[in-house]
Amino acid sequence: MAKAEPQSRRQTRGAILELLLRRKGAFRPELSASTALTDVSVWRIVSELRQEGWVVESRKRAPYVGGPSSFFTLSNDHAVLGVELSNGRLSVGLGGLDASVLQSWRCAIPAEPDQGVFESRCRELLGEALAQRGRRGLRAVQAAVALPGYGGPAHRRNAIFPWDLERLHAFLRQCLNPVPVALTNSVIAQAAYDRYAIGADALGRDHLFVFVGHGVAAAIVSAAGALDAFAPVEMGHAVVQRGGARCRCGHHGCLEAYTSLQAVGEIVGLDEASMLARGDAWLEPGALGPRELAQLRDRLVLLGLGIGNALNLHGLRDVVISGWPSLLGPEETAAVAHGVDESLLGGLLDDVTLHFRKPGTGSDPGASVAFAAWAFARRGGVDSPEPAALAA
Ligand SMILES: [Zn+2]
Repeated sequence: MAKAEPQSRRQTRGAILELLLRRKGAFRPELSASTALTDVSVWRIVSELRQEGWVVESRKRAPYVGGPSSFFTLSNDHAVLGVELSNGRLSVGLGGLDASVLQSWRCAIPAEPDQGVFESRCRELLGEALAQRGRRGLRAVQAAVALPGYGGPAHRRNAIFPWDLERLHAFLRQCLNPVPVALTNSVIAQAAYDRYAIGADALGRDHLFVFVGHGVAAAIVSAAGALDAFAPVEMGHAVVQRGGARCRCGHHGCLEAYTSLQAVGEIVGLDEASMLARGDAWLEPGALGPRELAQLRDRLVLLGLGIGNALNLHGLRDVVISGWPSLLGPEETAAVAHGVDESLLGGLLDDVTLHFRKPGTGSDPGASVAFAAWAFARRGGVDSPEPAALAA
């Protein structure tokens, strides 16, 4: 990770909290090495975070010469809340500052619910989560809501996310005040899950993160950047077959109409709810016949086409793919590379690498909890008004 250059006390606190979140704890020299401040300044801020109860210190043998040393982790006494609309269900999670999910509540909801339906179910689940937080004696310090199709502060209405944004903010304030709430696009929350819950963001290079689930979405991930610098890309709605299969966005031939969980479920004979209930075990290549595998390979070539075209727009040379394609064998995943090769200028040269990540099917609301944990760290554990990017 590039050395951060914090400019204010709040940013320095944020950099330290984020490092503890990302690494699940750190020794003192690691904290100094990752910020642009002196050891003395870092120590002063860590002491402050300890006194405020955000960080705890323990003794642990360090991986370098010397005896047990001070090891710092995020405190378990505080909670974050995550709300997620994904896979045709609404899920709410109570999580720790370390992005772990302590408990979750879910209910089925129409894939494109109207705002009133969302509000009534969400109010119910949040009520349960907040009551449980009270019973556990935890203080909620941040909430995050991850929604498909959400386009940030300058959001324009679309068929995937047609809601009134002001009404949504008012609803969340009513349910969660005084807990700060961060709104984000589902794929950015998935990138947060990849970085902070799975801890797999070890590429150290900027990359295209592609998530293939109920929808197909992508984000341009900056290795050294914060999540709010990631740009969501609605790759699932790139048309790969003019006049083709109807998509939920209202168009025909979108990538999503061929590669979403629902579309692939038709090939393997499972509905989306059964897939989610089985977790990653829903797709066992050994249990599929040659015909199904051939159909899946066709879909993966289309996915590769979409990825190749995204790479034509951005100079990225690494792609992380999370979702059902990662559950298949080398012959199937090679089909993705084949599609990229067909659409990328110059073809899939040696310098383009595809990385397949285990998706954690049905792990919602883990992504929104991870985003909430990041949003807390980002504001440095300071209770002053949110930066504009988070308040959006
Ligand atoms: Zn579409």
